Amino acid sequence: MDAHLHLRKGQILKEVAPYSAGVFGAGVIMPNTDPAILDAKSMLSYEKVVERATRGSGFKPLMTIEIREGTTPSMVRIAHEWGAIAGKIYLPDVTHNSEGGVANIMSLFAIFEEMQKLDMVLCLHSEVSGKSVYGLERKTLFLPTLVKITDWFPNLRVVLEHITTKDAVDTVAGLSNRVAATITLHHLYLTNNDVADGKIQPHNFCMPIPKHFRDREALQRASISGNPKFFFGSDSAPHTTATKECALGCAGVYSAPVAIPGVATQFENLVVSDDIRRGVEDFAGNFARKFYNLPEETRRITLRRVPWTVPQIFNSRFIPFLAGKELPWQVVA
Ligand SMILES: [Zn+2]
Repeated sequence: MDAHLHLRKGQILKEVAPYSAGVFGAGVIMPNTDPAILDAKSMLSYEKVVERATRGSGFKPLMTIEIREGTTPSMVRIAHEWGAIAGKIYLPDVTHNSEGGVANIMSLFAIFEEMQKLDMVLCLHSEVSGKSVYGLERKTLFLPTLVKITDWFPNLRVVLEHITTKDAVDTVAGLSNRVAATITLHHLYLTNNDVADGKIQPHNFCMPIPKHFRDREALQRASISGNPKFFFGSDSAPHTTATKECALGCAGVYSAPVAIPGVATQFENLVVSDDIRRGVEDFAGNFARKFYNLPEETRRITLRRVPWTVPQIFNSRFIPFLAGKELPWQVVA
């Protein structure tokens, strides 16, 4: 299961969805499309489109709505009744299509109360925004807000999305079992140096920005720790080459086609034991299913230790993460 997935809309959705549906049994579908998914009605129509794009694969889209300052408890309740698994909060301008994000997260007291009552998961983009906030500290500065929310709503299930720092790992590990975190593939591989060091690497550019070596190491350790609070969410975010390789290029790493072989390679690099497959299954499926109260995965894929060179490009316009690199693992049909 991919616990954090951007599938976009329209033609891009049709092109990228099969790569996720081919290897994952389910995905938590992010709502920051254009326009954003803000209520049950738009969520249901988006769900139908995603289902059409993944038909026949057995993939289950787990739908979400975006929570903004105009969201009401009844909007949350209706979305939940219609199958929303989570509500997602962005702060303004922290990532793609987040211009309408929530400026004052503590104004959402009634929403959190309702979500706690419904046992609906709250997903937090978890970065402080604002031009005066130093970019690499945005995640860390959000952590006191997370702690405050969990103090006030101890039974609310919260996912801190795409963590990038050691202090986020430590904070989540120290909170109750109602709090978990997603870790992306690219944040297991990258530091800030891989984004801009001598030359800009547009296909590694993402929000949140990868951080220090010590942060990457903390994420790697958390991913193999066997602690079910840490699970895989690819944050696979496709943009075309035209919108990546230009001035004002978009943030986002397209990792869906390489997600499972990429995770397996990380496990091989980090785990002493032979049980790489079991580790991948837990980190990239079982732990998220448990947190989201979903039934166990029944679909199986075959992961083989046969070298695989990641294609340079998919569909002539999406450059994947690790393009052109040889990985020791591949998914075979
Ligand atoms: Zn995302």
